[in-house]
Amino acid sequence: MRFENYTAHNYKSIPQIINNLTPEHIHNIDIVSRVLPFKTNNYVANELIDWSNYLNDPMFILNFPQHGMLKKEHFSKVELAIKNNLPTTKLNEIIDQIRKELNPHPAGQMEHNVPFLGEQRLSGLQHKYHETVLFFAAHSQSCHAHCTFCFRWPQFVNMQGYRFSSREIESLIAYLKLHPEVTDILFTGGDSLIMSAEQLNFYIEPILKADLPHIQSIRFGTKTLTYWPFRFTSDKDADDLLRVFDKIAASGRHVAFMAHINHPKEMAPTAFRDAVKRVRNTGAEIRAQAPLMQYINDSPEIWRDMWNEQVKLGIIPYYMFVARDTGAQHYFAVSLERAWHIFRDAYQQVSGLARTVRGPSMSAGPGKVHVIGVTEIQGQKVFVLQFLQGRNADWALKPFFAQYDPNAIWLNDLKPAFGESEFFFEKEYKLILHSKEIVSLI
Ligand code: SF4
Repeated sequence: MRFENYTAHNYKSIPQIINNLTPEHIHNIDIVSRVLPFKTNNYVANELIDWSNYLNDPMFILNFPQHGMLKKEHFSKVELAIKNNLPTTKLNEIIDQIRKELNPHPAGQMEHNVPFLGEQRLSGLQHKYHETVLFFAAHSQSCHAHCTFCFRWPQFVNMQGYRFSSREIESLIAYLKLHPEVTDILFTGGDSLIMSAEQLNFYIEPILKADLPHIQSIRFGTKTLTYWPFRFTSDKDADDLLRVFDKIAASGRHVAFMAHINHPKEMAPTAFRDAVKRVRNTGAEIRAQAPLMQYINDSPEIWRDMWNEQVKLGIIPYYMFVARDTGAQHYFAVSLERAWHIFRDAYQQVSGLARTVRGPSMSAGPGKVHVIGVTEIQGQKVFVLQFLQGRNADWALKPFFAQYDPNAIWLNDLKPAFGESEFFFEKEYKLILHSKEIVSLI
């Protein structure tokens, strides 16, 4: 278990927080967090969780591992191993085996997204869509929380060969020089803004000095605005951090925050609002995204309020994702049909300024698949879908159809409609994967 008292902010201390929990809870947290790591901090615990009703509090459920986040058989296996005092090596083997069963690298990101520079595999980069390269800085291998639904959870566990990580900014630059189609660099992690200003500058400065006129935007995937807003206000290097964003903007590039905001409660504290103001004053744009999750935000009113509040603060609603096929998906997932209903109901209640949001969207192996809706065509009930992004750029915005399935929670659950044997992209997708496998073998 990992609690962090970050700085001298005057919050209740960690032992006081633990006093709120029953022994059963502590036991559940202990078992689940052996597999899916747990981390929270004193700001989240003190400012965002309603301890008077914590069992139903979305921020508690989001941050503190719950019994159901492990499937029954997995929970029992770990519990039994501990009860029987199995040696650590044996216990770790059991835990690793369970982790492998939780699809630690969904959408083929380990096998099919890692690019090559000549013969060198760039294990801290991912290049799935033409325009955007993801960079996993070695200094951002953690996050303020370790959400059990997060597709980045393998970054937080100590499993050999399961991490994307790099401090070789020269390789990134060399790769970008060979790829003029790339317009965006996305710093991710963990949380890319968990880095100190100095560490961030270590990566940013060489990019700005390099001759990369095709790079238009530098993006930061981050939870920091809502889970540690002081990063932008009162941390000792807060001003230096903002200067890094200023510097990127001064180079004529767009600075974009991909901010994770799961619930309107995260936007209530003054500390968050102050942080948003300071970040926006640098010229950076904040775009908000989150998955739709049972127990957390599975109602249209929550999304409506979240998008409205974001617009008020000058944040751009960006994505509603579907809970990914990894980690505790079985716990959080809602059906695709319900996700569409929630999205639609929320969308109908907000003005055009909030309708920048896209969703529900599945970040799946072939690409980002948007659930447009459920309808009937020639007497057959179907899902209407389209790619927002595809491994082949030509797939974008081409509608396709799947048989209606009220229980489907992910693309893999869907079958082509109208008697087709496969979706339009499947043949080509297999070829793309195959060619990437060959490259990685060379
Ligand atoms: S990156 Fe976002 S979703 Fe993942 S653990 Fe951090 S806060 Fe949670």
